[in-house]
Amino acid sequence: MKKLIAIALVLVLALGTLAGCGNQAATETDSAAKDKLIMATNAAFPPYEFYENETIVGIDADIAAAIAEKLGMELEIQDTEFGSIIAGVQTGKYDMGMAGMTVTEERKQSVNFSDTYATGIQSVIVKKDSGIKTIDDINGKKIGVQQDTTGHIYASAPVDEGGYGEEAVIPFNKGADAVAALSSGKVDCVIIDNQPALSFVEANDGLEILDTEYAVEDYAICVSKENTELLEKINGALKELTEDGTVKSIVDKYIAAE
Ligand code: GLN
Repeated sequence: MKKLIAIALVLVLALGTLAGCGNQAATETDSAAKDKLIMATNAAFPPYEFYENETIVGIDADIAAAIAEKLGMELEIQDTEFGSIIAGVQTGKYDMGMAGMTVTEERKQSVNFSDTYATGIQSVIVKKDSGIKTIDDINGKKIGVQQDTTGHIYASAPVDEGGYGEEAVIPFNKGADAVAALSSGKVDCVIIDNQPALSFVEANDGLEILDTEYAVEDYAICVSKENTELLEKINGALKELTEDGTVKSIVDKYIAAE
């Protein structure tokens, strides 16, 4: 009996070692064979990109992972300031930028954009008792924005171009910092994309979103103008992932379906 147990033990150990070796070999060849796809983002933009413990998760992170899988590449996400994503993509520091990034004519001078995969709406967050009811009421108020975003660009445009003028605008590094300044009364409103706006209003008491859409925009992935091959691959993968419902299920996972 003792002998039998000993044989069984040896067998279990041997199998365990074999399985272990197999696994290790598989992961080693996997990462050795796979090209890296380096994505730059600004992980302070829920539900598109944010930290869950140490990991960057969100709609963009999940779609990027699905694209990388389709392309047989290994995704690496790097967190940086929103305003340095485009320059980093231009110089080849990053392969692509994916950060709830709005397609604009000005940015198109610097980078190429993929097909769009989501819509963003610039919204206005105010304190519930502020008396600000429409975007006209913002005139003469202090506006908080996230540095280098379209909200920042639109709001600081001259008044005769539909903005509120540079002197009315206070830029913050993160949307959350602009919202904190609103709560503490340093600014009277915050102009920011609608989905992060909803997350911030949910997380902070006493705030609400104005019932007006400040601007409607398309989100896309930016890629260096030099790298049209990658852009085509990304568009191909995005098309398949849209058609097979993957993009929609990722969006639904992070944004409660209405
Ligand atoms: N959609 C906005 C822009 O592209 C904001 C993006 C962001 O803050 N991550 O400027």
